[in-house]
This record gives sequence, structure tokens and C-alpha cells, in this order.
Amino acid sequence: MSEQFDVIVIGAGPGGYVAAIRAAQLGLKTACIDAALGKDDKPALGGTCLRVGCIPSKALLDSSRQFHNLTHMFADHGISAEKPKMDVGTMIGRKDKIVKQFTGGIAMLFKANKVTPFYGFGTLHKGNLVKVKQHDGSEVELKAANVILAAGSDSIELPFAKFDGERIVDNVGGLDFDKVPKRLGVIGAGVIGLELGSVWNRLGSEVTILEALPEFLAAADADIAKAAAKEFKKQGLDIKLGAKVGKAEVKKDGVHLTYNDGKADHKLVVDKLLVAVGRRAATKGLLAEGTEVKLDERGMVEVDEHNHTGVDGVWAIGDCVRGPMLAHKATEEGIAVAELIAGLPGHVNLDTVPWVIYTEPEIAWVGKTEKQCKDEGIPVRTGSFPFAAIGRAVAMNEPAGLVKVIAHAETDRIVGMHLVGANVSELVHSGVIAMEFNGAADDLARICFAHPTLSEAVHEAAMSVDKRAIHKAN
Ligand code: FAD
Ligand code: NAD
Repeated sequence: MSEQFDVIVIGAGPGGYVAAIRAAQLGLKTACIDAALGKDDKPALGGTCLRVGCIPSKALLDSSRQFHNLTHMFADHGISAEKPKMDVGTMIGRKDKIVKQFTGGIAMLFKANKVTPFYGFGTLHKGNLVKVKQHDGSEVELKAANVILAAGSDSIELPFAKFDGERIVDNVGGLDFDKVPKRLGVIGAGVIGLELGSVWNRLGSEVTILEALPEFLAAADADIAKAAAKEFKKQGLDIKLGAKVGKAEVKKDGVHLTYNDGKADHKLVVDKLLVAVGRRAATKGLLAEGTEVKLDERGMVEVDEHNHTGVDGVWAIGDCVRGPMLAHKATEEGIAVAELIAGLPGHVNLDTVPWVIYTEPEIAWVGKTEKQCKDEGIPVRTGSFPFAAIGRAVAMNEPAGLVKVIAHAETDRIVGMHLVGANVSELVHSGVIAMEFNGAADDLARICFAHPTLSEAVHEAAMSVDKRAIHKAN
């Protein structure tokens, strides 16, 4: 006999657990299934984000930033310390404690909202029947009018550099080294490569990042990528562009890599190799024969603009569907789908999902880059403003970076905001809000921003679209 629910969610990441809570809030009898185990081999809710993604990476970024500030920044303030030391075990222990707190917190939220958790692997069968293979080997069957697939994503493995969890690792291993690797190789100068590369570089690793594309951070606006690259170079991150890795051999003394940069073959030996070349939808085993839910050529669940799969009562959200692989995008889709199931309106505007890379300086953007506008024939005017001319940034010793506002040349509507600098993970939301309200650059220019704040760079960049920034030559 199968247990009956109104909604079954497969996957308890930031997409799935949020969908389950919202559905339960709306009075729907909800189950949420997750197969993941934590470091202690006990079930851990929260998905990639809470276990081995957003939260642990930010914990390590913060620890390593504190150490870097102590060793490199504090002297300017007149603060000195004798022989600062980093205890990696304590840093990793702090990270694990934070992860445990947050994954445990989801279990408590499920209890408070009466979401029934199932710990095991879920497979959708025809007729919205879900079979769960639980960790003790037993199987349960659940049925619901609506099933939400929120299976998330896994790291892509390179055939010549298979993960061994020891020398060649993905994000899971890269968040858990027991000591600072003397030489760290990274394949892929994307978000994970830059964030985790920064963590270990700040703690003393010699970090070499091998990026296949000839362009640095191709997804970001070119002005922002250029400014960021300059700062990373100063920090000692050795980023090699156009580098095609051919071989990665594990030997006694490390991982021996061979790569070609278009000019010549090169060799590199590292103690640890982090492979961060993107992620793919974790849909293996999710669908039994006969469900009629379609996967695209990359294994993503096909959905329409409302995350519906086209099969009655089957929805999919988060990393396992199209769109950016970001926790907040998954979360918003989870809420929208739960509300649609309950008969309410629900929609996610993928055009205003912000991106943040939590390096130092941080990189953030929303909307289109100048190049995208050019490629799409959108006429634009741009304005930018450097943090070096912002009193607060200089007082904080954080003068690097800039804000760039891109506005439609005819309507002045903001089509993109791009930032690199201190705390831009927070500042980017002024761009998100402005775009969601169809704001113009002139609207931002005429709003009063507090002084002295970093946000004044947003204000001045918006004024600069009309060549009337005050604190720079236009
Ligand atoms: P996931 O979080 O992947 O959760 C899916 C869950 O479903 C998993 O627990 C999985 O075990 C479970 N599951 C899968 N299939 C089944 C099944 N058949 N049965 C049962 N359970 C199943 N994003 C940001 O926005 N900000 C960040 O700072 C950020 N940092 C990141 C850092 C790293 C190192 C990584 C790897 C990712 C980061 N991300 C970040 C991306 C973010 O983690 C993902 O976009 C987000 O977790 C996607 O949420 P999701 O719910 O779709 O899937
Ligand atoms: P990514 O797509 O950000 O970057 C992968 C990089 O690897 C790209 O620059 C790509 O050109 C390069 N690459 C691909 N194949 C290569 C090869 N064979 N050799 C050398 N370079 C190669 O992917 P990621 O860094 O693995 O992160 C995966 C996803 O996780 C991100 O795209 C993002 O959606 C999410 N994430 C987000 C955050 C955040 O929001 N701060 C942090 C980490 C991860």
C-alpha cells in the first residue's frame, strides 16, 4: 500500500526543502525525500548548498579572509601580531559545525511545518508513484497528485582526471583538506575554482588555475572581469587562460599535469588537484521507465516557464532544470511551484537572478553584460564609478573595483548592473530591485544614498550614465 500525500518533493536542497515547507504552509500534506548523508554518515538535509556548497565554502572564505587580513592588511591600521598561525583542523571543524547547525535546522523546520521527511533514494514511476529506497535497504511507496523533482546537480568529472577523493578532488574534497596543500592545481577558472582557489591561496598554497577558454570569466561583463583579474594576479592566483589539460597522472610526489596553452606543451606538478569544470543535473535513476518526463541532451529535466514538465502533476526546479545553477534561483522556483500547486500565482523572473562570486574583491551582477547587449542589438548607454573615489571604501582600505550600470539608450531602463569590490554581494540588490520595478538609470541617480557608504558607487555609476557623476571626470 502506498502512503498518500498532496505533494511529494524529491530532493531537499534549497529548491526542494523550500518547496516542501511552502507547500505545507499552504495546507498541503507534504513529503520530502533526500538521499544525502553528512560527514558523520547520518542523513543531512539541505542539499549541495548546505552540505558541500554555498555555506561551507563561505565559512572557509571567511576564515581564510580573517587570516589574510591579519597577515596582509592589519599592518596598515597599525595592528600587528607575532607569527600568526593557521590551524586548518580548527577551521574545518568550525565549517563542519556550521554545516551541522544548518542541515539540522532543516529537519527542525520540517517538524515545525509538518513536512514528513523520508531518508533514501526516490524514483518517480508512472502515475505519480514514488518509490523510496531507504538507507536501511527497505522500500516505501508514496503517491501524490503533485510531485516536485528537485534532484540538484553533481560535479562533472574529466575522463583523464577521475576523482579519487585524495589527490584529485571536486568541491567536496576541496572543502575538506586536512592541511594547506603546498601546490594546488585547479582545472576551471569558474565560480568554484576562484572561490576555493582563493581560500587555499590566502592560507599559503601556490595556486595555479588552468582555464580552457581564452577569456577570463566569460559570463561576467568584460570591464568587471578585467578589474577582478588584476586583483587576483596581485593576490598570487596564477590563472592560465586557453590552457587545455591533456593528462593528470597521480604519482608519489603529486599530480603530474600536462597542458597546452596554444603555444606549447607545459608540465605542472601539484600536491592536490581540484577539478571545477561545471556541474550536471543529478537525474540518474530519478525517473523509472514510462513516466514520460523528458530529459534534454544534458540530462536536465525539461520544463516550461512555470517549471511544469508537461506530465500531469509533475514539476521540476533548481539545478536539475534550465537556468543558472544558483541556490536562490532554486529557492524561488520552489516557492513558485508550491504556490502554483495551491492555486496561487507563481513565477520566477530568470532575467533578474543575481550572480555573486565571493572572492576578494567580490564580483556580482544582474541582467545583461555590455557584450550581450551588443550581440542582441540592444542600444545602450553605460556609466561606471570606481570604489577608489568612494570615501567609505578608501577608509575601509578596500579601494579596488567599480560599479557599472547599463541602461537602454532610448528608454534609460536599467538592463544590467555589474560590480566588483567590497560587499558587492549586498550592493547588487539595488540593481535587482531597480530592474524588477522597471527602473531607469535616472531613477537611481535621483535617489538619496547615505554618505559615506559603498552604495554611493551605485549612485554615482547611475549618474555617470548621463555623464553627470560628481566625483569623477565624465
Ligand atoms: P541541491 O542542493 O543539489 O539538492 C538536491 C538534493 O537532492 C541533494 O541533497 C541530493 O542528495 C538529493 N537527491 C538527488 N536525487 C535524489 C533522489 N533521486 N532521491 C533522493 N534524493 C535525491 N549557489 C549560490 O547561490 N550561492 C553560492 O554561494 C553557492 N556556492 C556554491 C559553492 C559550491 C562549492 C557548490 C558546489 C555550489 C554552490 N552553489 C552556490 C550552487 C548551489 O549549491 C546550487 O545551485 C543549489 O544547491 C541547487 O539547489 P537544488 O535544490 O536544486 O539542488
Ligand atoms: P563554472 O561553470 O562556474 O566554471 C567552470 C569553468 O571551467 C569555466 O570557466 C569553463 O570554461 C572551465 N572549463 C570547462 N572544462 C574545462 C577543461 N576541460 N579544462 C579547463 N577548464 C575547463 O563551474 P564550477 O566552478 O564548477 O561551478 C559550478 C556551478 O556551481 C557554477 O556555475 C554555479 O552555478 C554554482 N556555484 C555558484 C557559486 C556562487 O553562487 N557563488 C559558487 C560555486 C558554485
